[in-house]
Amino acid sequence: MKLQEHHARRLLAAQGLPVPPSRLATTPDEVAEAAASLMADGAERVVIKAQVLVGGRGKAGGVRLAGSVDEARTAGTAILGMSIKGITVRRVLVAPAAHIVRELYLSAVVDRAARRILVMASAEGGVEIEEVARTKPEAILREHAHPHLGLFDFQARRLGLELGIPADQHHGFAAIAKGLVATMLADDCDLVEVNPLALVEVPTGKGIRLELQCLDAKVTIDESALARHPDLEALRDLDEEDPTDRAAREEGINYIRLGGTIGCIVNGAGLAMTTMDLIKRAGGEPANFLDIGGGARADRVEAALRLILADRGVEAVLVNIFGGITRGDEVARGLIAARGAQVRDVPMVVRIVGTNSDEAHRLLRDARFITAASLDEAAERAVAAARRHSAARQPSPA
Ligand code: GDP
Ligand code: MN
Repeated sequence: MKLQEHHARRLLAAQGLPVPPSRLATTPDEVAEAAASLMADGAERVVIKAQVLVGGRGKAGGVRLAGSVDEARTAGTAILGMSIKGITVRRVLVAPAAHIVRELYLSAVVDRAARRILVMASAEGGVEIEEVARTKPEAILREHAHPHLGLFDFQARRLGLELGIPADQHHGFAAIAKGLVATMLADDCDLVEVNPLALVEVPTGKGIRLELQCLDAKVTIDESALARHPDLEALRDLDEEDPTDRAAREEGINYIRLGGTIGCIVNGAGLAMTTMDLIKRAGGEPANFLDIGGGARADRVEAALRLILADRGVEAVLVNIFGGITRGDEVARGLIAARGAQVRDVPMVVRIVGTNSDEAHRLLRDARFITAASLDEAAERAVAAARRHSAARQPSPA
């Protein structure tokens, strides 16, 4: 689950990271008010930032600087209501604008292969990291955190040295790098990214001091860990969640859209992955990963079918239910009813294993389903059915 920047900033600040103060505004007047208050506290300029769950807001015009309350209101008017990558901006963050000397990149992610938290840093800050990875992969530095002892000082120092930050900033940098790891652990994050981590000039009574500040924050929480964090679950942005993802979550169905033509309804995550592999081997592309979970309750099957058919790219559905003690004929009746309740129909190939599977297949064949005894056969039939269905819809070239 992605968090909005203003929420992500709070999590970082809670771990003691240097995050400048900020306010949230939903109207140009509120932007002006927030700017006036920050300026009364000494800010010369403010930055107004669109709060949407997509990257590249800066490039899209969703991040603007303002040197007066009026300019802030104008910037707020421009940003509120604008569309960034298809998402309408409803809220902006207003913060004192930093005097940036250098922009760095720093993040922590779960490295599943290494089974550790990986800390990544780059001197190419401000740029999207995918861009750096593509054009200049050697510019991304990596250190794995120890699973129990965290990131060691020497590792943080090594990163700092390679980034070329000033000597007097190493201590602060190490604290920030460790703070990212601490945030990962405290909030069960998949990702904590600060881009830019900026070296900024801060005016003091006597002159100017350099300091590292987290000027942007991107945090995603492990969906499977949210049960442990009701306070974080409450931050979910329902406006920006994909409607299909939302429906799947509400039905308790594990669904991931993949873009192929063969929809899959399977019980069990391992079986679902195997089914996808066999579809590929048979020359097709799975449209989704979908695990309807234990048993195969009729209402779940219907909800799963609805999710799959909402994807207009789906040309056929493969249902693979390993029943065990679940009664196959009941699953079959559930499938027949579920299919009847849909607004769109595509060929459906079913393989049911378990109690009463013969009876199940007989019922299904009578109801225009294609049945298969083995999983290989089911995959081949689904691929063929998808091709036929797609060809029948396209007008043949004259
Ligand atoms: P993103 O484009 O969605 O990643 O949004 P960011 O918060 O990273 O902002 C984009 C860019 O705006 C940054 O890389 C900075 O160059 C600039 N920016 C953001 N905050 C400030 C600030 O406080 N002061 C200045 N001068 N520039 C800023
Ligand atoms: Mn950024």
